[in-house]
Amino acid sequence: MYYGIEIVLIFVLGLIVGSFSNVCIYRIPRNESILYPASHCPKCHSNIKALDNIPLLSYILLKGRCRNCKSKISIQYPVVEFLTGFIYLIIYLIYGLSIQTLIYIILSSALVIIAFIDLNEQIVPDVISLPGIVIGFIISFFVPYILFINSALGIVVGGGIILVIGLVGSVIFKKEAMGGGDVKLAAMIGAFLGWRYIMISLFLGFFLGALAGIILILSKIKSREDVIPFGPFIALGSIITLLWGEKIISWYLGF
Ligand SMILES: [Zn+2]
Repeated sequence: MYYGIEIVLIFVLGLIVGSFSNVCIYRIPRNESILYPASHCPKCHSNIKALDNIPLLSYILLKGRCRNCKSKISIQYPVVEFLTGFIYLIIYLIYGLSIQTLIYIILSSALVIIAFIDLNEQIVPDVISLPGIVIGFIISFFVPYILFINSALGIVVGGGIILVIGLVGSVIFKKEAMGGGDVKLAAMIGAFLGWRYIMISLFLGFFLGALAGIILILSKIKSREDVIPFGPFIALGSIITLLWGEKIISWYLGF
């Protein structure tokens, strides 16, 4: 049974980590330290007081504006905070108080950070994906739910699929369809989730990416020439898979 207080605590933990993720999303592509200096307004550079830095609440109380200069705070801040809290909550409801929950909340936070950096800057940061591959592989030696051989296969299958699609795509379309950043991202997810889950993650990613692309082009928000980053869709596909992978597999085998 799950008690109300645990559910509240895991959600609040997600909100706090989400708040820190916002710092990472802003600073990592700018090669700034994620620890120093303290949070400040990107417009007027005034320090943000602790009371104005409470996840979700401060954004609502300040009506989405900096207390000092009144410039608008991006809606991305409360969105990332809520999203992280929400993902943590679902992971906890599925996996309970377990080592799997701990690993999955770490992985999903890395994925949220990568997804938003890719959305904003069209890059997948190596400083997360490369250590992620190593950490995912090392963890597989110590946890009961994934064998190291599965983790190794996940790295090869994940990175390999994107590499091959990228090469074929660049020959057909004569431009880079998928970057090296996506290869390392898929390898990282493969290291954590193994070869079956990374295949499901990538399939979902392609499906959701194509769907979003069609909708964005039909609604004339983007043109056919625009680059739509693929990282966010791999990240979304992976989070769906780490939550409901077994259900997806048994549904698929049921055909
Ligand atoms: Zn300001």
